[in-house]
Amino acid sequence: MHHMEDGTKQRTLSIVKPDGVGKGVIGEVVRRFEKEGIRIVAMRMLRLSRKQAEGFYAVHRERPFFASLTDFMSSGPIVAMVLEGDDVIARNRKIMGATDPAKADKGTIRADFAGSIEQNIVHGSDAPDTAVTEIRYFFSELDIVS
Ligand code: ATP
Ligand code: MG
Repeated sequence: MHHMEDGTKQRTLSIVKPDGVGKGVIGEVVRRFEKEGIRIVAMRMLRLSRKQAEGFYAVHRERPFFASLTDFMSSGPIVAMVLEGDDVIARNRKIMGATDPAKADKGTIRADFAGSIEQNIVHGSDAPDTAVTEIRYFFSELDIVS
């Protein structure tokens, strides 16, 4: 089996967070990815336990907002997706907008839908190594279409 080694094609993990599912914007988020030519190669809905949310955001465990963040992330269903495309890690982050919706560029998902710096609709991996780890947190290689 060969991995993609054309140098630019990447995968990243996207999550529609509980606030995004609650606000009914799953389809809108997916539309914005597809409109940009990004392919969805795996997708599932689930609800994280508190422990699973803590595991996913373990890198932030010393931050003052960790308890609140993991409480929020386990408060309702989420939609996890694997996105694939050229430079998709950075392109997804651009479509999402800045963490704080007040600082996010116009037309980004967070500027358009997020209510706060914590409840900001979407997650996106921030680098190739975290993308691999985060995709594995939710998906087996067999779950990903090629
Ligand atoms: P994500 O990792 O969810 O894609 P991000 O990379 O833009 O978002 P991070 O710095 O990794 O932002 O923070 C992870 C998440 O923690 C944010 O998306 C947000 O939900 C929450 N968060 C970040 N900073 C704060 C803060 N100052 N107060 C409350 N929650 C925060
Ligand atoms: Mg992050």
